[in-house]
Amino acid sequence: MTPPTNQLLLPCPFCGGSGEIQRGSYWDEIARKEVPTYRVICTSCECKVGERYCSCPYDGENYEFDSEEIAASAWNMRADV
Ligand SMILES: [Zn+2]
Repeated sequence: MTPPTNQLLLPCPFCGGSGEIQRGSYWDEIARKEVPTYRVICTSCECKVGERYCSCPYDGENYEFDSEEIAASAWNMRADV
């Protein structure tokens, strides 16, 4: 069971829409296993944490995170900017 992390997400800073956590994964060549990733995307304008919309530390090339909590806090940090 996962806690309802969605409740922790602030509205989208660009359109006021709600954020949604999406799961993904990548193959770690060194560890030789599938690693889960999490990101937050706006359900209205489809902006993602990590895209170059602002200068907050989480924006850049890497918008996938190791846990839902980190992804959510990255999204919320951007919403505050
Ligand atoms: Zn939006």
